[in-house]
Amino acid sequence: MNWLTNFVLPKIRAVVARKEVPDNLWKKCPGCEQMLFHRELTANLEVCRNCGHHFRIGSAIRFKQLFDDGAFERAELPRVPVDPLRFRDRKRYTDRLKEGQAMLGPGSDAAAVASGKIGGNAAVIAAFDFDFMGGSMGVAVGEGFLTAARLAVARRAGLIVIPSSGGARMQEGILSLMQMPRTILAADLVKEAGLPYIVVLTDPTTGGVSASFAMVGDIALAEPGAVIGFAGARVIEETIREKLPEGFQRAEYLYDHGMVDIVAPRAELPAMIGRILSLLQDPVRVMPALPPPPGRNGAEAR
Ligand SMILES: [Zn+2]
Repeated sequence: MNWLTNFVLPKIRAVVARKEVPDNLWKKCPGCEQMLFHRELTANLEVCRNCGHHFRIGSAIRFKQLFDDGAFERAELPRVPVDPLRFRDRKRYTDRLKEGQAMLGPGSDAAAVASGKIGGNAAVIAAFDFDFMGGSMGVAVGEGFLTAARLAVARRAGLIVIPSSGGARMQEGILSLMQMPRTILAADLVKEAGLPYIVVLTDPTTGGVSASFAMVGDIALAEPGAVIGFAGARVIEETIREKLPEGFQRAEYLYDHGMVDIVAPRAELPAMIGRILSLLQDPVRVMPALPPPPGRNGAEAR
């Protein structure tokens, strides 16, 4: 029987294994539980065709989707001291950083910055990667945010920020909390320069991120179904001992209550952001079709 187990069995296994479908070809939609073909999902901007569920996407895909012709230039972000508190929970903080960087490239952190054009307007985008430690905001993210703001001012460009974050990075303790006022000041740099500061709230925008730069946009856009809030719904329910309303902390709920200006599907974002940038920076160029004001000449005055 030895030849059967040693020779025939491996061959059979090899043939069977080759026919197996790779796991990454299909993705299950958390919204409607349908199996979605990977390539189709990518073609549809990582949005489910059946129920419109918006999957989380990283900064690299964001940049490609939003900048004109997918053309952009990544900004070099300053290096920061690694693991200042020598923090360790179940794993070392440095190991968690290494895992994230193995995925997104050496020196990367939970936010990336790039510049280019959107709808022909100069724009700088700071986008978060939720896959990197839950998109948490530590010193590196704060530095990245400041870099983005300075770049926007230097280039007279609008700043677009796309958070996808659980909040402050607990592994950096008080230093991560300090990034909250820091990012607010960075946003102020852009506002004081008279440039647009637009926030696109995506799933999830919570904790210290929602309590700082994410809520002070000149215009607040949100993707459908995104969870946006400070504390989690369960924590609130346990604290106030009340049942929370349907759809609480979702983009649509915030829109109904005046916290968000527009809930826009991902496919509409590039054109919408382009138009907002144009309207805020160069309103005369955008509205050439406006009728002349009445009373300018005799015919209209009548
Ligand atoms: Zn779905």
